[in-house]
Amino acid sequence: MEPGSLLDPEALQPRRERFGEKLKFLPIVYVVAAKLMLASIYLSQHIFKLISRQEPWDAAAQLRGWTQLSIFVPATVLLLICYVRCILVHPGEIPDDPKWEYLPRDRGVTMAPLSQEVKRTGERRHCKWCGKFKPDRCHHCRVCRTCILKMDHHCPWIYNCVGHYNYKFFILLLFYSAIDCHLILWTMMESLIRCISLPQTPFEEMFLIFFGEILAFVMAALVSVFLGMHLWLMARGLTTIEFCEKSLPKDGNRNFNSVYDLGILGNLRAVFGANVVFWFLPLGLPEGDGLTFISDETCLTKDMDGTNGIRRQILGALPPSQ
Ligand SMILES: [Zn+2]
Ligand SMILES: [Zn+2]
Repeated sequence: MEPGSLLDPEALQPRRERFGEKLKFLPIVYVVAAKLMLASIYLSQHIFKLISRQEPWDAAAQLRGWTQLSIFVPATVLLLICYVRCILVHPGEIPDDPKWEYLPRDRGVTMAPLSQEVKRTGERRHCKWCGKFKPDRCHHCRVCRTCILKMDHHCPWIYNCVGHYNYKFFILLLFYSAIDCHLILWTMMESLIRCISLPQTPFEEMFLIFFGEILAFVMAALVSVFLGMHLWLMARGLTTIEFCEKSLPKDGNRNFNSVYDLGILGNLRAVFGANVVFWFLPLGLPEGDGLTFISDETCLTKDMDGTNGIRRQILGALPPSQ
């Protein structure tokens, strides 16, 4: 089906305005509310009680309170900055440049930079909804109704796609969330044990600490699994979409090697940027423009993954369309 065809209803829908749908903010409100609730329970029922423990005077408890607070505050501030940046930073789109424009008559002939991924037919990949040739690793998001550079996945919790320009903030968001949730989970155990052992503990205090621990446990578990998965994917130079394609190969041979694997250091630089000083800070840009990608096997001809109709081709030689 060609772009703009009357038979294709999705092609007729205009590109979605960023933040145009109020209901899509609900997951963000939910996350912020859960985080605020957890932080306020932690501070009021644990940290401040440790710091102000005076009867009997307990200097060691006060020191623990100040130490935990000095980790909690910067981790939470960084977490919030990463969350805001995940929401606001666009992951990247195909430029509005005539050279990326797809015209049906062009078929495989284009002025767009050469790509390594092509369709099974040998044609250049293009998006029928955006009417553009797709750069490598670019995919169309049906929620955002646009093509996203180096698309990882669409995340409703940030009302945004995760892609080339905001993947770093997404990973750091998981990282600082994991630090925060584990800090709360393990250090608040002390207050939990204390309130269980003291029979005069008010019911509200006991309830809040129990509730906070359960919330911290659930969030820590979820965030740790996601962080572990994304660190593994990042170390191998894979996106979530590429991983899913490789998980269900049509030829039955699973292979989680990426043609874009630059080695662990190269893969980290590709996400966190060239300057190591900024790796753990929500600053800086990833390496590259998200349109072209270096691979160590760029000039070899072989199936990239044998799935989803995407294959590699000899760089520089566009096969004739069929
Ligand atoms: Zn598209
Ligand atoms: Zn999206």
